[in-house]
Amino acid sequence: MSNREIRVRFAPSPTGPLHIGGVRTALYNYLFAKKNGGKFILRIEDTDQTRFVSGAEEYIIEAFGWCGIRFDEGVTKGGKYGPYKQSERKAMYSEYAERLVASGHAYYAFDTAEELTTQRKNFEAEKKTFTYNAAERKHLKNSLVFSKSETQKLLQSGTPFVVRFKMPEDHVVRMHDLIRGEVIVNSNVLDDKVLFKSDGMPTYHLANVVDDHLMKISHVIRGEEWLPSLPLHVLLYEAFGWDAPQFAHLPLLLKPDGKGKLSKRDGDRLGFPVFPLQWTDPKTGETSSGYRESGYFPDAFVNMLALLGWNPGDEREVFSLEEMAEAFSIDRVGKSGSRFDPEKAKWFNHQYMQKKSNKELAAQFLPLIEKEGVMADMDYVEKVVGLVKERAHFVHELWEQSGFFFKAPASFDPKAVKKRWKQASYDQMMELKELLSGVGDFSSENTETVVKKWIEEKEYGMGAVMNAFRLLMVGALKGPHLFDIIALLGQEETLRRLEIGLFELGKKE
Ligand code: GLU
Repeated sequence: MSNREIRVRFAPSPTGPLHIGGVRTALYNYLFAKKNGGKFILRIEDTDQTRFVSGAEEYIIEAFGWCGIRFDEGVTKGGKYGPYKQSERKAMYSEYAERLVASGHAYYAFDTAEELTTQRKNFEAEKKTFTYNAAERKHLKNSLVFSKSETQKLLQSGTPFVVRFKMPEDHVVRMHDLIRGEVIVNSNVLDDKVLFKSDGMPTYHLANVVDDHLMKISHVIRGEEWLPSLPLHVLLYEAFGWDAPQFAHLPLLLKPDGKGKLSKRDGDRLGFPVFPLQWTDPKTGETSSGYRESGYFPDAFVNMLALLGWNPGDEREVFSLEEMAEAFSIDRVGKSGSRFDPEKAKWFNHQYMQKKSNKELAAQFLPLIEKEGVMADMDYVEKVVGLVKERAHFVHELWEQSGFFFKAPASFDPKAVKKRWKQASYDQMMELKELLSGVGDFSSENTETVVKKWIEEKEYGMGAVMNAFRLLMVGALKGPHLFDIIALLGQEETLRRLEIGLFELGKKE
């Protein structure tokens, strides 16, 4: 089995938008496949028609498109093991269920839903829990109790039935998980799970195992919530006489306070998205926020997710997808849950913002500038972005940091005026205007040298002059290096702002 081709899959059920925990599972599968020269497959597990949500499959596909996580085979790609959507594979599952009945590993059960509810209630009345298992199956309506001919009659007359797995009694199931190591369970704690339903559809368990086998999946890497299903899956492989894949169950993503699983409801309640893309519930119309719409870069989002549960064994944190694939190994996935940290998510976006070219950021920023009613030149926007990007986590924060490059201050921050517009400011700024109008080279370095020399010669306070000057250029005491600002604004605009500011603020009495 060790020289089996590496084939992994992500197998979502389209029951709603993809939670970031699901994206992380897919990402680890992707990285594992890339690292090992294997294939990554997208299979849609839509056999539970009662939980189908319209738009969910499209959402899943769009989300991976945005993240840059690509599949080698699957619903949108095709491949030689298709179809990759279980509802389109429907016809073949009954044959596998029949195979298990024939080999004595499964049986037909005819109990109606009402009958099972009554059983459950009777048990509850005695403070017990009803389980369809070895002890109880003997008293219920199934082909282990009925004779062959009785069973045949029921089947032929079209009596609704399900196929249940005949859980072996007192059997020690030994399993190996690549993250958790040895897992041992006694089959007595397990029930006779339904494999095939009365609506003619397989359950998740049957379809999942059959498809993983037929699609030659070598490693099943999935969320910890599927660990309780592992004994059944392992027993199903045994029953079919198939080699089981290797398993790795990923620890949960936890709420920021570490108390419990990060749920679909947590995000907007705690002020951060838990979905890659915004999602509007088709039934309730309720909208949940997404990373894309919140201004995250897909590569930053993916990088952040990768480190929630995996680490490269060194101090590195910022990785491209290729670098992550290179460094990835299941051995370095932790056993315990990872706390989601919304501040760290922002930190990642900030890191990526610094790595992006000014040109790329400017292209994203331009529409926001236009929205503010300004027609700006791309070259100029690029330069502005270069000066302020280190102060922003998101492109949508750039205007807040740089609006003054595009519009002269319409007002002056009153607090700053009170504190920084001093009695001497008016005359000093008049002098400064005079000084700057005579400067030929308006580069940042040159104006800085000229202005600082003048301040020193006049023995003015450096802070006092610079703050007043900044106030007139920006309207507030914020922004990057002041001489960089005026170099970009240019001589004419700098002088104009000095003039407007002097007029607006006047001489302090
Ligand atoms: N359809 C299951 C899900 O929605 C797949 C679990 C598995 O990977 O086996 O998560």
